[in-house]
Amino acid sequence: MFQAQNSESDVFEAAYRASRDYQAGLNDRTVMPTDAAIKSLKSLHTAMPDAATDDVSIINELHAIGSPATVATTGGRFFGFVVGGALPVAVASNWLASTWDQNAGSWLLSPIAGELESVAGAWMLDLLGLPKEAVFGFVTGATMATFSSVAAARSSLLRRQGYNVKQKGLSGAPTLRVVMSEEIHPTNTTALGYAGIGLDQIATCSVDDQGRIIPDKMPALDANTLVMLQAGNINSGSFDDFTTVCVKAKAAGAWVHVDGAFGLWARASEKKSHLAAGIEMADSWSVDGHKWLNLPQDSAIYFCKDAEAVHDVFGVSATYLMQDANRQPNNFTPELSRRARGVEFWATLKSLGRQGVADIVDRSCHFATLFRSGLEQAGYKVLNDVVLNQVVFTAANETQTKAALKLIQASGRVWLGPTTWKGQYAMRISVSSAATTLADVEESLAIMTDALKQVRIAQV
Ligand SMILES: *Cc1c(COP(=O)(O)O)cnc(C)c1O
Repeated sequence: MFQAQNSESDVFEAAYRASRDYQAGLNDRTVMPTDAAIKSLKSLHTAMPDAATDDVSIINELHAIGSPATVATTGGRFFGFVVGGALPVAVASNWLASTWDQNAGSWLLSPIAGELESVAGAWMLDLLGLPKEAVFGFVTGATMATFSSVAAARSSLLRRQGYNVKQKGLSGAPTLRVVMSEEIHPTNTTALGYAGIGLDQIATCSVDDQGRIIPDKMPALDANTLVMLQAGNINSGSFDDFTTVCVKAKAAGAWVHVDGAFGLWARASEKKSHLAAGIEMADSWSVDGHKWLNLPQDSAIYFCKDAEAVHDVFGVSATYLMQDANRQPNNFTPELSRRARGVEFWATLKSLGRQGVADIVDRSCHFATLFRSGLEQAGYKVLNDVVLNQVVFTAANETQTKAALKLIQASGRVWLGPTTWKGQYAMRISVSSAATTLADVEESLAIMTDALKQVRIAQV
């Protein structure tokens, strides 16, 4: 095996072969790594090597030890969380972008990265029906997208009260209030913390049976308030009532941010966009590329109507960065040097077109309804209104639910996890991989049906 020297093409060939081999094996492997695959990770724990190792053997070792220890989220039967798969064009454009190794922070350092972000950002605004004048930044995930938006919101709300946070810092600033649902994704609280907004500043609102904010029960809003809404509840998939809340917020001078990590994509579907009606009235939005659009991980975007607020936070004016007429990517993101995230956004949106994006959303939602009816037929109880890609369900009681979930997971052919919904232990299905087929849904349903039968027999 050992080769003293490899040419560059040898190592790229090895990576290409390993990737093809991984892809080809996806359907036959277990969704989660086997115990043996996890055990063999121990062999990675060696001392820092003194001598060099040839590159091809490193890629081969990565494939031999690493590939089996992955979770097959790019396959069709991982339903555990909304993580999305990775479309071929997304992976391929990401490979090419890695080869380019562009520093996407400045237009001068990468004209192609800069232009692709400008184009892909504008396409996204159009596709999602958001205000054309909104600015955007390409970040790692929805958490950072929300942080970026919250930082802009903070700057804007304080500026309107005559306080310049960039100049004076937070310590003497008026205390902002945050109003959000008790059901909001926990990363929103994390993002608020990064922006210096603490738990004591948050007022939570009660929600209805689907986890939506009840607008009438919201605390009073004012010009010192940041409202955080949700497009796509991580359990039920439900959407807050954007129109009602945004009208209230506008009247009060409050800022509205929407966490649309996966749910914002509903706007791309004619069948589902009604769920997100009025969302364009908000001030800022977060959405992941690495979930429902099926881009590789480390890919999200935020949009913000208030360009001045974004500039307040991220605007850089160091002369060496050579500001010019071109959009400077780093004026919109927390980082300076970073990878060219716009590349796979552009390639994938071009590959899919409007219709293709809508198809991914519609297909996932359709599969979720097949799961709902199949599970009900099998004797499970579905707890949520299946409006999107999420299905929350139980067996007759917690003991049975736990036992059934254990059997489903042990099948190795499909993976989903537990959640808590309205205080009840439940199982949750999220359909978000573009690789999921009808055959995957049918095979998974057969396993779930069989699991409940076995649990019932064992209990008699
Ligand atoms: C996944 C998710 C997040 C966090 O997104 P990251 O991309 O993991 O940072 C936030 N909100 C919702 C609703 C999510 O599904």
